[in-house]
Amino acid sequence: MAKTNLVWLRNDLRIADNPALRAAHLGGAFVTALYVHETTKGVRPPGAAGRWWLHQSLGLLGKDLAERGVKLVVRSGDAESVVADVAKELDAAEVFWNRRYAPAERAADTAIKDDLHGQGFKAHSCPGNVLVEPWDITTKQGKPYSVYTPFWNTLKAMPIAQPQQRPDAGEPMTYSEVDADYREPKWAGKLGQHWKIGEAAAAQEVSDFLDERLDDYAEGRDFPRKDVTSRLSPHLRFGEISPRQVWYAARAVAHADHTKQAAADKFLSELAWRDFNYHQLYYREDIATVPMQGKYAGMEWRQSEGDLKAWQTGRTGLPIVDAGMREMWETGYMQNRVRLLTASLLTKNLLVDWRKGEQWFWDCLVDSDVANNPGNWQWVAGSGLDASPYFRIFNPVVQGERFDSGGDYVRRWVPELANMPDQWIHEPSAAPRDVLQQAGVRIGDTYPAPIVDLKQSRVRALEAAGRL
Ligand SMILES: Cc1cc2nc3c(=O)[nH]c(=O)nc-3n(C[C@H](O)[C@H](O)[C@H](O)COP(=O)(O)OP(=O)(O)OC[C@H]3O[C@@H](n4cnc5c(N)ncnc54)[C@H](O)[C@@H]3O)c2cc1C
Repeated sequence: MAKTNLVWLRNDLRIADNPALRAAHLGGAFVTALYVHETTKGVRPPGAAGRWWLHQSLGLLGKDLAERGVKLVVRSGDAESVVADVAKELDAAEVFWNRRYAPAERAADTAIKDDLHGQGFKAHSCPGNVLVEPWDITTKQGKPYSVYTPFWNTLKAMPIAQPQQRPDAGEPMTYSEVDADYREPKWAGKLGQHWKIGEAAAAQEVSDFLDERLDDYAEGRDFPRKDVTSRLSPHLRFGEISPRQVWYAARAVAHADHTKQAAADKFLSELAWRDFNYHQLYYREDIATVPMQGKYAGMEWRQSEGDLKAWQTGRTGLPIVDAGMREMWETGYMQNRVRLLTASLLTKNLLVDWRKGEQWFWDCLVDSDVANNPGNWQWVAGSGLDASPYFRIFNPVVQGERFDSGGDYVRRWVPELANMPDQWIHEPSAAPRDVLQQAGVRIGDTYPAPIVDLKQSRVRALEAAGRL
């Protein structure tokens, strides 16, 4: 009788291009897959929106795996005991997983591997979740990269491993979900209206994006109402598609039609920011809590629960910021330019610690990711290694006028401003009284006055950074 192997799935909820799943199948072994809702020390559990996505994704993957003869077992607990328990229950010969890169995750995986070896199981980790393993890309001096552009120049010249095909099916077994720890977030009903989840949906999204939106990507990606970006981030976060699959799909389109080359390059250079953040995650201390530039440990952040609350709930009185925060609350997603503006307002104008913003995004985004979320927050706050300079403080009124010139994005998410004319939509508090009256807007009543003076707070932020 064929032996049974165990695959421990984590951020790789897919069948295609899943090296651990494929390796487990080699030699005709029966395969059982395991997902653990982890309480493992230091391993960051998904936020509320992420848990919602995960639950749906596991359900779909379980059915898909069952059709291919693989049972998916879902458990909760400390991975160190759960993985070994399941391996024993199955009398598994070998255990496989795809690597993860946060310090606590690596420490846990090493301990689990040692423990499994000690108990007589073979355990193997495979590369599946980044384009290039963090240690395989170094500067000419053999050091990790701290600046993005040279990282990208090196990465794009490296051979990226081809995605692997789906493994063959073995004997069909039934899907069973055991002991899944899942609490539906309050707003889960809303999230479902905005997303199609799972491996098939991710594949469809890539091909729709490359067919229909890639042409406008380079120009349009900064404009929140254009919706021309790929929206692959939650699929990549949960590994419903691998970055290598995305890489090769975009390259194939550019190869077939050279007029798409520039847009594909731009897109791939954004995709590679994900690898850059994983590179940093691998080499640094916990990037969700420790500023990458040590001097930022001395930053004098303001304690203002009121400002934080106004920001979280989209009630800052700065329309494009409020639109972004409300978009995220409704959909679990926010467009990149608006993420930059909302994060800049919090960490610079309001001088609130970036970790508070990072945590809020972690809970609300369906794509909240251990590398990309803290990496980007540190970039905006200025504490990242290749960060936005401390004097780059976005003015949300000017940015709104530039990137949402007709105000469509604001009108969509801040309906109380729907009747404001274009000229005042990004700064309603400065509009003449009769304009406000006609639009049915009462500042301080139907819509808040700005919670911060943009000019004064800019000076305050520059002074605070100057003291570091
Ligand atoms: C404060 C802040 C927090 C962020 N938090 C996250 C997060 O938790 N998870 C996340 O995936 N992205 C995060 N981003 C990066 C970026 O906003 C999203 O990846 C992007 O908006 C997702 O939309 P898309 O898939 O349509 O992107 P596209 O433009 O189509 O890009 C394709 C893919 O490339 C990667 N990518 C694009 N831009 C970036 C970037 N700046 N940094 C890292 N990877 C990038 C993503 O995997 C994305 O799915 C954050 C940005 C900021 C400013």
